[in-house]
Amino acid sequence: MSRAVVSLNSGSSSIKFALFTLEPEGPRHGAAGKLEGIGTAPHLVARAADGAVLVDRGWDRGAGLTHEALLGDLFTWAGDHLTDHDIIAVGHRVVHGGTKFFRPLIIDDTLLSALDALCPLAPLHQPHNLAAIRAIRTLAPDLPQIACFDTAFHHDLPEVATRFGLPRALHDKGLRRYGFHGLSYEYIDRALREADPELASDRVIAAHLGNGASLCAMQNGRSVDTTMGFTALDGLIMGTRCGAIDPGVVIHLQTQEGMSAAEVETLLYKQAGLLGVSGISSDMRALHDSDDPRAAEAIDLFTWRAAREASALISSLGGVDALIFTAGIGENDPVIRAAICARLAWLGIVIDPSANARNAPIISAEDSRVAVRVIPTDEERMIAIHTLAALTTAGGQS
Ligand code: ADP
Repeated sequence: MSRAVVSLNSGSSSIKFALFTLEPEGPRHGAAGKLEGIGTAPHLVARAADGAVLVDRGWDRGAGLTHEALLGDLFTWAGDHLTDHDIIAVGHRVVHGGTKFFRPLIIDDTLLSALDALCPLAPLHQPHNLAAIRAIRTLAPDLPQIACFDTAFHHDLPEVATRFGLPRALHDKGLRRYGFHGLSYEYIDRALREADPELASDRVIAAHLGNGASLCAMQNGRSVDTTMGFTALDGLIMGTRCGAIDPGVVIHLQTQEGMSAAEVETLLYKQAGLLGVSGISSDMRALHDSDDPRAAEAIDLFTWRAAREASALISSLGGVDALIFTAGIGENDPVIRAAICARLAWLGIVIDPSANARNAPIISAEDSRVAVRVIPTDEERMIAIHTLAALTTAGGQS
């Protein structure tokens, strides 16, 4: 029986998981899957490492099933089907670690209540991250669980990049910029370092463009600036999130439009972004497929904002040597990549159209002054690596 860890990424409507067996050369990807449609029509697909489908199922009358109930079913399925693995720990993506938590940590009651207190800072994610942890505690109380923080990679941001123009007392209370998607950026840095160590030491902008989207400016593998801030609302236009807006809009919505704080939160997190601007969909593929001019306008805004924010980050870096695209849109959408690069042509970026069309690892042309690459992210692998490291630090079982 091989020892293994499970990485869990529990979001608002989906739970992604991956099993990694422990091999001398490091964690090896085993079965992985995604349970989507929580709250509407839950559907689970899991595949073995070779791509063979292990399970593909929905739930009758599944709309009312909670994360906890579905995790229970997932646990039962794992117990029945992953029998040749001894699962020694579960690692979780926890979106917000605040100022205190920036190393992977074994979860206990004290940590769990401290993480509860950070829920208002990541209302779309943190409660679901913690719900998964609690559900597994009930199902397997002795199984070690490790929290891996999405904010951790940005922990050493230069002080200037952490501040808002707010009174110091508020900064000291934690109202500051944190940054997110850290597990993804850490993976991108590692993958780039493997592919081209010299480039990884230069000035790199990584663009994580998925439902959530952000940019990170990295110098020698360290985050020096990023587009998300206090919450994961800031920065780029996203699937349903507004990105950076004038804070006066929030005041106006409450004082003039009569919206409550909860209504504003729902608007900015769930009804804005590509969905709000297009009025059609939060999904980039659906927008490409639409003839509606509002879809084209939403796409245009997405690429305009991405290029504009990238230009700001280039200033923080004092130039740029590499641009890396990742996540659902970044890895798969040549049209969006080409549009963003065209807006950054003033940097001397030149794309090779055929490499771009096939999502090749290097999509810049020979004569481009900036290297442009596509690197598929693997947050689950980073979670597995951190989980093992936390167990080792704790004198645990790995
Ligand atoms: P998250 O993990 O944040 O939920 P993903 O990284 O899966 O999101 O990204 C989802 C986005 O990626 C959606 O807008 C979707 O349309 C887009 N996407 C996924 N696959 C493709 C593809 N093959 N071509 C274009 N866009 C894609």
